[in-house]
This record gives sequence, C-alpha cells and structure tokens, in this order.
Amino acid sequence: MPTNHYPSLFQPGRIGKVTARNRLVMPPMATNYGGEDGEVTDRMIRYYEERAKGGTGVIIVENAQVDYPTGKNVVRQHRIDNDKFVPGLRLLATAIKRHGAVALQQIHHAGRQTTPAITEGRVPVAPSPVPCRFLGVQPRELTGEEIDTLINKFAEAAARAKLAGFDGIELHGAHGYLIGQFMSPYTNRRVDQYGGTLEARLRFPLEIIRRTREKVGDDFIIGFRFSADEFIPGGLTLEEARQIAARLQQAGVDVLHVSAGIYESMDRVLEPMSYPEGWRVYLAEAIKQAVTIPVITVGVIRTPEMADRIIAEGKADFVAVGRGHITDAEFALKAATGHADRINRCISCNIGCVGNGIFASSIMRCTVNPAVGMEELLGTIPPAPHRVKVVVVGGGPAGMEAARIAAMRGHDVVLFEKSDRLGGQMLLAALPPHKDKINWFTDFLTRELALFRVRVFTGRNVSAEDVLREQPAAVIVATGAVPAVPDIPGVDGPRVFQAWDVLAGTKQVDGQRVVIIGGGQVGCETAEFLAERGKQVTILEMLQDLALDMEPINRLDMLGRFKRLGINGLTGVTATSITDSTVRTIDRHLQTASFPADAVVLAVGATPVNDLALDLAGRVGEVYVIGDAVRPRRIMEAAQEGALAAYSIAEAHKWLSPLSPAHATV
Ligand code: SF4
Repeated sequence: MPTNHYPSLFQPGRIGKVTARNRLVMPPMATNYGGEDGEVTDRMIRYYEERAKGGTGVIIVENAQVDYPTGKNVVRQHRIDNDKFVPGLRLLATAIKRHGAVALQQIHHAGRQTTPAITEGRVPVAPSPVPCRFLGVQPRELTGEEIDTLINKFAEAAARAKLAGFDGIELHGAHGYLIGQFMSPYTNRRVDQYGGTLEARLRFPLEIIRRTREKVGDDFIIGFRFSADEFIPGGLTLEEARQIAARLQQAGVDVLHVSAGIYESMDRVLEPMSYPEGWRVYLAEAIKQAVTIPVITVGVIRTPEMADRIIAEGKADFVAVGRGHITDAEFALKAATGHADRINRCISCNIGCVGNGIFASSIMRCTVNPAVGMEELLGTIPPAPHRVKVVVVGGGPAGMEAARIAAMRGHDVVLFEKSDRLGGQMLLAALPPHKDKINWFTDFLTRELALFRVRVFTGRNVSAEDVLREQPAAVIVATGAVPAVPDIPGVDGPRVFQAWDVLAGTKQVDGQRVVIIGGGQVGCETAEFLAERGKQVTILEMLQDLALDMEPINRLDMLGRFKRLGINGLTGVTATSITDSTVRTIDRHLQTASFPADAVVLAVGATPVNDLALDLAGRVGEVYVIGDAVRPRRIMEAAQEGALAAYSIAEAHKWLSPLSPAHATV
C-alpha cells in the first residue's frame, strides 16, 4: 500500500523473520464469536478478514484457549488445545493472510480471572490462591506437576498455530491472566521454584518460550504481551517490567506488546471515556529503551496522526489500534488513502465490545458500527436492488445511521430533523464531564451524510402530509423520545426541571442545593455536570444502586469521581412529593425523609414519540419505526435499527419489519 500519508506508520516493519506491510496492528480482543465447542466460526473469519482487507499490517487473533475448560475466560472463546481445531484455524489464518496482513494467534490461559460459570464448573487455578476481587472468585493453587503440564499445553498450542498457517503466536502475559499471574508479586506468593525472586516468577513464561521455540523453530514469531504496570499495590511496576522485557528478549521473544493493568485495575485495561488518547505510550517507550526487539504500544490510540507520531518519535515500533479496528475495519485504508476524516472512531463506551462481548454470553457488537459481528451480511454494503425515494424523520443516531446506509445503498434520501442540529440525544449525552468522545460519532455521521448526498433539512418538524408530499417509497420514523414526567405532587413547580434541559442549557438551575430524582445514568451524569459547576447535589434513586443501567467500567470511573465532587447518592428511596423547598421521600422500610432543595431535576426515563408512524401506516409502501421512537434505549440499539431498516428498504427479505397497515387503526 504505497502512500504519501503518515509515512512513519505506513512503512514496512520487521518482526522476527517476517515483514509487515505497515506498522499498524490489530491487537487481540475477545469477540465471543467462537462456536459452541470452541471451533472457529464463519462469523469470526469474516470479522477478521474485513480487518485484513482494510489494510492493517499485523492482525493478532484474540486469545485461544490452551487448556479447555479450566483456562477459559469467555463463554464462546475459541480453542487451540486439540488438533481437531486446526482446520478451522487454518481457514482463519488463510483469510487474514490472503489480504496481505501478518497473522498471529494469541494463546491464553485465564488462571484466576474467570468463573466456574465459564469454566463449566471447574475451580479456576492460579499460582497462588489469591482471590480475584473483580470477579469475586477464589482460585485453587496449581501443583508443580500441573504447571509442567500447562507449559507443554502452551507449546503444543503454538505448534498447532504454526500447523494452521499463522506467522506466529502471541503469549498472553498481560492483564492478569495466568502467565501474568506468575510474573506478578501480587498474585504469585509461591515459595517453590516458580515464586519469590523475579527470576523465579519468570520461570513459567521463560519455560513456555523455551519449549515453544523448540517446537516451532526460528522462523515462527513468538510475541509476548504483558502489563508494564499493573496499577495495583504490590503488583508489577514499570521498573520491574523493564527487567522482564530484557529477560524475554534474551529468551528469544521476537516482539513485545506493552499493555497495562489487571482485572482489579480494569480501567487501565479497557479504558473508559475519561482516559486521554495515548496515555499509555510512555510505558512502551520505557520498555523500548530496555530492548532491541520491536515493541508494540496500545491503548486509546484513535487517529493515524497519533499512531504516525508515535513511530516517528521512536516511542514504539508498531502501534496497536484495538477498539478502533472494531469501529472501522478500514482504519488503515482510509488513513493511507488520505481519508482519515472518514474513520469511524471508537468512543470508549465499552458497551458493545466489552459489555456484550467479554463479560456477557452474547456476541460482541459495537455502538458505532452496526456491521460488527454481522460482516457476513452487512460487511460490504450491498447496493439496493432498485433506487427509491426514502424519507427519514429524525436526525439522532437511529435516523442518521439509517440515512447513511440507505444513501450508501444508492437510495435517494431526505432527512428531516426538527431541531437546528443533527445528533439528537447524542448531543446531550456528550455534555456531561468526560463524555465528549460521543461527538466523534455525531461528527462522523454528519460528514458521511454530506458525502453520500443525503438532503438534510434541520429545523423542520414535519407532519404526515409533509412527508407524503415527498412521495417516498419508504419512510423511516426515528422521532426519538421525550423525557418522562413522574406522577409526583409538585412535579410541575417552577423550580423543577428536566435533566435534558439542564444539560442542554435551556433551563438555568438557580440556588445551591439540587435534588435529582432518578439515579440512573442520566441522573448521575447530570449530577456530575452540576457538581462540577459548584452545586451541592443529592441523587434519589429507587433501585439499590446508582447508574445500574450504565456500562460497568465507565460506571465505576464515574462513581469514583463522586466523592471528590461531594455528590450524595441515596438508593432505595422513592420521591413522594416536591414542595417549595424540599423533596419528600419514603424508603423500603416506610421511613420518610425530607431533603432541602433549591431546585429539583427529573431524570426518570423517557417516553417514545411515534405518532407520525401511526399517521403514515398504510399510506406509504414501507414505514419503519426505529430507535427510541420504539422504546428508549442506547445509541447502539438506535444505530443498529437504523442500519437494519436501511438494509430492508426495497428488499424482499426484511431485516426489520415495516409497520403493517393494521397499525393505522391502533
Ligand atoms: Fe468503541 Fe464502544 Fe464500539 Fe467498544 S462498543 S469498540 S468502546 S465504540
């Protein structure tokens, strides 16, 4: 891919005896796309193939199990512990290499960072019985004999990867998994040959490397990923990590992949929105100074500009863009062809990839890329069978994504938005502290609509008649929702505001003491928004905890800031009335209380707005209702429904059911 853009990033790079076409790496990220029995699936192959086609230099396939089921940490994790998996792995390696990318397979054992629910009832194992606080799991200590067996399993797995046609493997020694557990003084308390001094703690990985090299020979890449700082008291620090790096090089590792954190410091592994771009590059830079083999950096690197600069400044030899490869399979291609502004950047929400993938039994999805996990169907946007006129009403994530895909398919698309800006609730969602990355998705969609010539009319609150005048063959109703109003005496008082209005700045909250009714994500984020402006905020939440509707890593990050801001969150309480100066509550023990309030903010959910759909049903060929207009949910569901509606227009096979004429009488 010869290019004048980002010359440092797009220069070839050598790992071991293999040359990669550029310095961009797709790091391993669990997808849950494996088969029922741990086999490679078509879904996996298509997902990785799209990224290889997208121009990335090196693709490191997500962690494969070397020890099923005890070493498993994701419900649908694929396996490499038996020769029967080699044919599937071969298809995967071939699909990646066919498009010019170097293909590595990460191999892995979860150790203490899994649960019996995932290991099919087996007690998780570890170097020492140190419980995992994140998962609440007590592991069992491995015997010396078991350790020896596991070393062989890693080496045998590497040999299978070679047999399958991969260019190499990466040993997963990062993020607190088994290999990392042996290396870390936090999790390794052994007093035998595998514990104590650094050299003893390294015995397990070094022996794996030695036996692996014996099996795979010199031409096969052995990569090693590790956390250069575990960000946990008593864990690995950068100083020790530098010594480890030198020792790994000496042992014959070809490339080091420098990550950070373990499960107990999860915000360093999968950073929430508040983390700045490139914050961990300093770790790779420090490791690079300790070795002469190539070093890969990773962590919130979202733009080719930053990736190029890292290489140019000599801070790392390769740059891994992780979640950015989920959001955009063509990250490399767009950058190399001068279209970096078309890259759909990861917003660090962790909802689709982590919430749906690693920590759930469902497949990985992505908030900003509905095609993820559906590459077989949606990876290459198919042209429409015939071009029709499409009207989209509503310019939030659902409507914008619907308009984008419909236009890319060749339809003639008009979008009406009643406010003066595109973005819908994404504009509000981006306003609380540390949420500004959401604007990246709004900006991406806005640019794409212009590029694909969607005719956008803002400030137009259209009726059914307005829509019909356009003579559309299909209408997509994405009219969103309005904030719900709780049935509480005093709710219509002059000092009572909706959270959406407060965030948007259309209502001014006077006075110092603010009570927020509703402690879900919107209520909590509004609390932080107001507290940062000097307000004294109390949140009243009916459920047993705050922000339970929020993605866990971002939630913990936000709640961690509440103490500094003095936000008072009360749970298990219900607001019963609002007076001039107080909010009254009752708890589950029927205890009543009164909270002084100069202002009250409501954050109790939303109500769909879809009257237009009912007015149109039966009067247009196809009418689709999507997003919050169906039921208020997250950006991810809105965008997915937008895409599915756009794929359904003028097709015999409908991904999304259009409204039937019967709805006209509802
Ligand atoms: Fe990024 Fe969110 Fe997509 Fe994950 S789900 S890749 S964090 S945008």
